[in-house]
Amino acid sequence: PPARLANRAVADKENNRKPRAAPGVKKNTPAASNADKPPSTTPKKPGEKPKYSELAREQGWVDIELIEGIERDIVDNGPKITFEDIAGLEHTKQLLQEAVMLPQIAPHLFKDGRLKPCNGVLMFGPPGTGKTLLAKAVANVCNSTFFNVSASTLASKYRGESEKMVRILFEMARHYSPAIIFMDEIDAIAGARGGAEEHESSRRVKTELLVQINGVGSGEKSDIENNRVMVLAATNLPWQIDEAMRRRLTKRVYIPLPDLHGRKALFQLNLKRVDVAEDVDYDKLATATEGYSGDDICGVCETAKMFPVKRLYTPEYLKQLQVKRNEGAGDDEIKAMEKNGLVHDILTALDNVSKSVGQDQLVRFQKWEEEFGSK
Ligand code: ADP
Repeated sequence: PPARLANRAVADKENNRKPRAAPGVKKNTPAASNADKPPSTTPKKPGEKPKYSELAREQGWVDIELIEGIERDIVDNGPKITFEDIAGLEHTKQLLQEAVMLPQIAPHLFKDGRLKPCNGVLMFGPPGTGKTLLAKAVANVCNSTFFNVSASTLASKYRGESEKMVRILFEMARHYSPAIIFMDEIDAIAGARGGAEEHESSRRVKTELLVQINGVGSGEKSDIENNRVMVLAATNLPWQIDEAMRRRLTKRVYIPLPDLHGRKALFQLNLKRVDVAEDVDYDKLATATEGYSGDDICGVCETAKMFPVKRLYTPEYLKQLQVKRNEGAGDDEIKAMEKNGLVHDILTALDNVSKSVGQDQLVRFQKWEEEFGSK
């Protein structure tokens, strides 16, 4: 398989040998002649892997555009998230440590079939509850390359090529391993099978994804150690996931709306950078936001933080500033308003930001958890 070819190409490069032709991998005509030239990639730090696209170019693989597209749009080089950036969800953090982080950090435990790594984890629950943040934090802690894929984008933007994209994605993840493939909105390509409206092409993408997830963790023993690839999937619509996919994602974790403790932690996290009065009543804020998601609470805090700015920056004040060009003007006033009035402002902002998840939806999540969730 191409993953091995990629490994072989790395070995060739490390041994300063001419890259061997990759059997079965078609070559683009213009790049084919490059296969005989010595590698011309940028120098690497010790232990750093060559970019997959560089290998592809050297070896003259087709699909170079897709490969570069994945490297550009899907490999996530954004800010590093840590578990401290995520409020609450202690139980989930613990579970992810066991299911995802252990095989990535201590693969020797899974050698010789002593322990069986799980193929994939499904996080389900209402939107804005921290599923993406959790995946990012896990990847960061494991020092893994993070592939952030939106299944609906995969299905729409790469229409016609999504099946190939899925295959290349997993090949690339094996190249960069340890790696985590985060597949958001998995329901978009793993919806229940069989409906008359299901197109042949989407059926093929789904099948490819099933095959690839099956391959993760079930390769030869040495593969498990060498190719540490883990799939983390997320959905707001778990009941739409097809049974075959559900079985592949062996751990299924409910990420619910934050409880009282979680909401309190969310406010503390959001107001960390604001110099709020010492006696802020976080319990009052947490009590007032029952039913709000983490994302809703962030929205409420952002709205409230704008109130002092809006109060101060009246049109007249802005006019004065334009004349005087006084940089930093108003900072002290805003800080004073924040310090003394933020709780009041947050409670006012609550009137403008409504809960984004309905009760009937919550009941549906709980029922699904009872039936299919991991305890
Ligand atoms: P999901 O993937 O569940 O839809 P995200 O992880 O993308 O949600 O969260 C969206 C935003 O909501 C985050 O960027 C963050 O600002 C906020 N958020 C949600 N839950 C939490 C949490 N538990 N801790 C900190 N921030 C959170």
